[in-house]
Amino acid sequence: MAKPPEFPIPELGEFLPKQIVTPDSMAHSQPFVAKPEHQESIGFPGDLIDDWQQVAIDKLGELVDNSRGLQVYLDSCVKCGACTDKCHYFLGTGDPKNMPVARQDLLRKVYRRYYTLAGKYFPKLVGAEDLTLEVLDDWYKYYHQCSQCRRCSVYCPYGIDTAEVSMAAREIMDTVGRGQKYCNEIIGKVHKIGNNLGLPEPALADTLEGLEEDVLEDDGVDVKFPLDVKGADILLVTPSADFFAEPHIDGLIGYAKVFHQAGLSWTISSHASEAANFGLFIGSYDNMQKVAMRIREAALELGVKRIVFGECGHAWRVGYSFLNTLAGPFDFLDSNYPVPQHIVEVTHDLIQQGRLKLDPSANDDKRVTFHDSCNVARASRMGDKPGGQFTLPRDVLRAACNHFYDMPSDTIGEATFCCGGGGGLLTDDLVELRVKGALPRMQALKEVSEQHQITHMAAICAICKSQFSKVLPYYGFEMDQIVSVHQLVGDALVWQPQV
Ligand code: SF4
Ligand code: SF4
Repeated sequence: MAKPPEFPIPELGEFLPKQIVTPDSMAHSQPFVAKPEHQESIGFPGDLIDDWQQVAIDKLGELVDNSRGLQVYLDSCVKCGACTDKCHYFLGTGDPKNMPVARQDLLRKVYRRYYTLAGKYFPKLVGAEDLTLEVLDDWYKYYHQCSQCRRCSVYCPYGIDTAEVSMAAREIMDTVGRGQKYCNEIIGKVHKIGNNLGLPEPALADTLEGLEEDVLEDDGVDVKFPLDVKGADILLVTPSADFFAEPHIDGLIGYAKVFHQAGLSWTISSHASEAANFGLFIGSYDNMQKVAMRIREAALELGVKRIVFGECGHAWRVGYSFLNTLAGPFDFLDSNYPVPQHIVEVTHDLIQQGRLKLDPSANDDKRVTFHDSCNVARASRMGDKPGGQFTLPRDVLRAACNHFYDMPSDTIGEATFCCGGGGGLLTDDLVELRVKGALPRMQALKEVSEQHQITHMAAICAICKSQFSKVLPYYGFEMDQIVSVHQLVGDALVWQPQV
């Protein structure tokens, strides 16, 4: 059960399109600041440095010089307003600083002041602003009220990507010693131990052994969960939440059952026991690369032929879009398979080839909808056709369930709403933001539930699953209505009686 709310919960059915603009309604919301040890362990100053202002201005210049995209985003907004009501955090909170254009402007004003001629000489005329401590505080608050979901960019006629602006702002703040505890502490754990949880190899081995016993007891099938097996064909890199959290763990069981039934040889690595890469959220290329390199090292060490990612949205974005740049080339892998593959692609292929025996009636007690996760939907693809990231998971779900129904079309696919906890915001110090930011998705879930008596919402992202487990009860749903796609697949697999 969620603990009693200490803030008003938005009412479903009343948010679109008449959100009342309430200035500064979320000005009190900010995540815990990273402690010196969290900062220093990932290469940043422990506290706000003395000359922070000049260093921040220089860093902004460096980022703009190195990223043509960022420069275009900061230069090209025409204030058309198309993005203003597209952000779930604005829709859920009414704080005008959560309008994407206003969020961008927090950085844009400073950029104009120091890096444009008009801003240097006529700052007031062009909305340029000095970088002050007050501005830095606003950056810290409102760049941590952006889940970097990229929904606003879909509606911007210039394709301005607020997520990139938010990442740049966070990188600048880290550089001057004002980082976020949640993300930075986690990245430090991955560097040291290999996963977000700080789960050491013996604990991981114990967990996997326990899962083998559970599946044998529940299904009578001797499914293995191999760890550090040299010479396995597939390295599975999955979010560490899959090793212990609900409903994630049922997804991991589902992957293992798929591999087992298809006769595929696979392993998990204790060195790369984390698919998540929070380096993305803080905009730090160096940290993102260091985390990604563990996957390359594990693949080489174990001598695998393929790399498959489990259900994790931003991990798939990093994997699909950046893994080769960060840690490639992967010319030592089997060239018949893309690097990396998503577990949904693997399962989809196996279903197409008739190598999995599924009985969807096994899930007849469920009526299912699907939440497209932002980073999968708007920052990656699956399969070999455009839009595969939308069709493949739905094909898999339809093969595993007889009762599947989509939410309203303006809330799925490319237009999907964030769960409210992405982008490094999945922390209890931001629970109010998370609950309010989930409002549009909860509204869509309510609509489809009323039309089709939906009992479960499936997802392929570890953050979405954790976030929904937390926020569903705030809106009158049950926390266990969120499930892994591969839980449904695993439950629908038909096994021959074992002799
Ligand atoms: S990227 Fe997402 S969270 Fe950030 S401003 Fe745009 S819509 Fe809002
Ligand atoms: S839609 Fe694009 S151009 Fe229009 S206000 Fe928003 S960011 Fe600026």
